[in-house]
Amino acid sequence: MPELPEVEFAVRRLRRAVRGREIAQLRAHHPSQRRSLTARVVAAVVGRRITTVERRGKHQLLHLDDGALLLVHFRMDGDWVFDRRDTALPPHVRVTLDLADGRRAVLVDPRALCTLTWHAVDAHPDLGLGPEPEDPALTPAAFRARLANRRGPVKTVLLDQSVIAGVGNIYAAESLWHARISPRAAAASLNAERAARLLAGIRTALADGHVNAGRYHKGERLIPFNVYDREGGPCPRCRQPVRRIAQAGRSTYFCARCQAR
Ligand SMILES: [Zn+2]
Repeated sequence: MPELPEVEFAVRRLRRAVRGREIAQLRAHHPSQRRSLTARVVAAVVGRRITTVERRGKHQLLHLDDGALLLVHFRMDGDWVFDRRDTALPPHVRVTLDLADGRRAVLVDPRALCTLTWHAVDAHPDLGLGPEPEDPALTPAAFRARLANRRGPVKTVLLDQSVIAGVGNIYAAESLWHARISPRAAAASLNAERAARLLAGIRTALADGHVNAGRYHKGERLIPFNVYDREGGPCPRCRQPVRRIAQAGRSTYFCARCQAR
């Protein structure tokens, strides 16, 4: 599943391809998209220019010149393909965004869970997101304060996008390993020193992720995961076998020695 680094990589590609361009056509190719991309929405979008493209958490925001917003989420398996409008469509196409310059952005997704929705200027959605983890304004003290009033184990709290934006199952596990904090520790129990270590761990894990982000869907990483999806493999720090447990229905990978409670 794409997390913050993969979405950031996608947004940079998308920005290069569409920023400043006029939309010539918007077409849904799957029933899941036709519900949101109605004839009224298409009529509102065609002829508009895309002024900026930004990422918030795992959302992609395309701002149009009339103040409206196209909001994209890859969910489990979405991705962009950029090509020319006169070439054959790639497999698993869900939405095509034709540009007036003859190019095209194609939203592809084998599982058809990705979303693309339109929001008028006066109806921008509240995404309910906490701060971006890489925002320098997010200090260790501010991060600790965000954890302090949350119930539950820190791993599960990190997945709450209103606490911190863009951290998913992979980078939560990797961050806690970097910080040497048990995924079962209560989020509210972290003292200032451990909260600072966790914030640094999140940033280290995401920095590794940015190195790998271009490999999303290609199945190989330039920097391997330390614990994620490595049950039974040696912890890179202490060689203890990596353990897997379930928390809130999701797998958590960690080293029971480095990340003792
Ligand atoms: Zn270890």
